Amino acid sequence: MAAAPTPYTTRPQYSSSVLVRGTPEYERCRRNNPSSATPERYPREIHLPKTPQDVAAALRKATELGVHVGIRSSGHIFGLGALVHDGIMIDTSFLNRDIAYDTDTQEIAFGPAVRVEEVAGKLAEINRFFPHGHAPTVAAGGFLLAGGQGWFVRGWGATAQSWITKMEIVVPSGEVVTASRTENKDLFWAARGSGLGFFGVVTRFWGRTIPRSTLWERNFTFEVGNKYEALMTWALTKGDETPKYGTDLNLTIYYPEKYDPNCSGDDIPNPATLHMSLSLLCYADTKPQAKILLSAYDDMPAEIKDALIEMKPVTKTSFQRIFQTKRGFIGLGGDKRWSILSMLSEPSVPMPKLLSYIKPAMLELPTRTSVVFICTCDIVPDEVDSAVTIPQQYYISTITQWTDPKLEPQIYQPMRDRYRRALPVSAGVYVADYDVTCDDANGKVMSDTALARFLKIREKWDPKGIFPNYKKFIETHNKINQGLHKAKI
Ligand SMILES: Cc1cc2nc3c(=O)[nH]c(=O)nc-3n(C[C@H](O)[C@H](O)[C@H](O)COP(=O)(O)OP(=O)(O)OC[C@H]3O[C@@H](n4cnc5c(N)ncnc54)[C@H](O)[C@@H]3O)c2cc1C
Repeated sequence: MAAAPTPYTTRPQYSSSVLVRGTPEYERCRRNNPSSATPERYPREIHLPKTPQDVAAALRKATELGVHVGIRSSGHIFGLGALVHDGIMIDTSFLNRDIAYDTDTQEIAFGPAVRVEEVAGKLAEINRFFPHGHAPTVAAGGFLLAGGQGWFVRGWGATAQSWITKMEIVVPSGEVVTASRTENKDLFWAARGSGLGFFGVVTRFWGRTIPRSTLWERNFTFEVGNKYEALMTWALTKGDETPKYGTDLNLTIYYPEKYDPNCSGDDIPNPATLHMSLSLLCYADTKPQAKILLSAYDDMPAEIKDALIEMKPVTKTSFQRIFQTKRGFIGLGGDKRWSILSMLSEPSVPMPKLLSYIKPAMLELPTRTSVVFICTCDIVPDEVDSAVTIPQQYYISTITQWTDPKLEPQIYQPMRDRYRRALPVSAGVYVADYDVTCDDANGKVMSDTALARFLKIREKWDPKGIFPNYKKFIETHNKINQGLHKAKI
């Protein structure tokens, strides 16, 4: 069923709460994803619940029909595991779509499709801070189930690890339960870090907040030329020297023509000159404090200075301004097609080895608008507390964007091959980027012992297996443990 690309909307409207396959509204809903490369998978029904009871009814229907269930909160996992062919997709767009602040507990509570920009708006109104994601359109559901590399993740940990206190979950039996560190502890453990493998529908989250401060940014732009190793080593090492608390350190590699409105199409510019930018952000009450937090980068050897194109001093900014930049950086909907592959670096691997294994993924960008994104996360797992159990030192990703579907053979598999080549220096994959369409480049999503624990908890709550994605995790772990992932390159 071919359809013209439609703009992506975070506030869709439909005339019914159950959309049936074969109708135009169903197809508009199925395709309402940030990437227009919607896979050819067709759930038999799409349910648009408003309440946990509506969710329970959708799960009952799936059980009656004996089909699988997929859940979409905003569709930012581009493989779209939520589109379960012949199953039921639950789209949470209208489910508890509000944000409440409790002045006694100083917690916010919100539904799973609430977007980063909506949470940020509420926090500005109440003068509080909570580490939501970085991009304006990402929903809470998939972000928090994956763990959540939120703002200033380095010191404060993944958002679900240290900020989420409670979740309301509809479990496969249809019961609506609360999960926290004191109630249904096993469910709370499993829901934080299992991402698309989770076996229930989260209908509300509760999270701590702290008083608001001020956001500051410092930028550097370099020409990569033949200085890939020197620039990366300097940038990542300076990150390690920067205090963890209140800093957010991001590196991108891209063609400068990415932003050129006069360029059209997917073609790589000629000559192909890559730039590397550092966006160094911090949260501090005053500019002198911000300057100290980001001062490790003052120390720049001559070789690095030679590649410098632009340097912007520490300047006050805002989440809204960052969102505006992200909108330009990652255009969504329309004819834009996206894929993300990523890895989490193994912290014990020496820097030269890491840089050598990831080099093709960093420098061989398939189109003019693709980009490498690296975030220093420094997430330390606590296996007793949650399923976030892969160390997340550097999150390393390549975000490929294109418009012409004919390019796909040159994009999907070569990019997977580049990331498969990097598996020996990877601790695993951030579950938010787990590729349900092909296992070639996937790493482990949790430690082996955590996976064993997760599978036991899953069996207890979802004995009929209506949420199917956990099976893929088992395949990936077997592949890695048996050494079946050896690079072809
Ligand atoms: C532009 C962009 C920016 C991003 N920025 C960040 C960032 O700053 N930090 C970060 O950590 N990640 C980031 N991500 C990754 C993002 O967090 C994940 O893609 C996440 O899964 C998106 O959430 P979603 O609800 O849109 O996902 P969806 O694609 O809707 O869902 C992903 C999976 O999560 C599960 N799921 C979703 N909602 C529920 C629910 N309510 N109950 C149970 N299961 C559910 C489903 O199994 C589903 O298959 C970014 C991604 C993109 C594309």
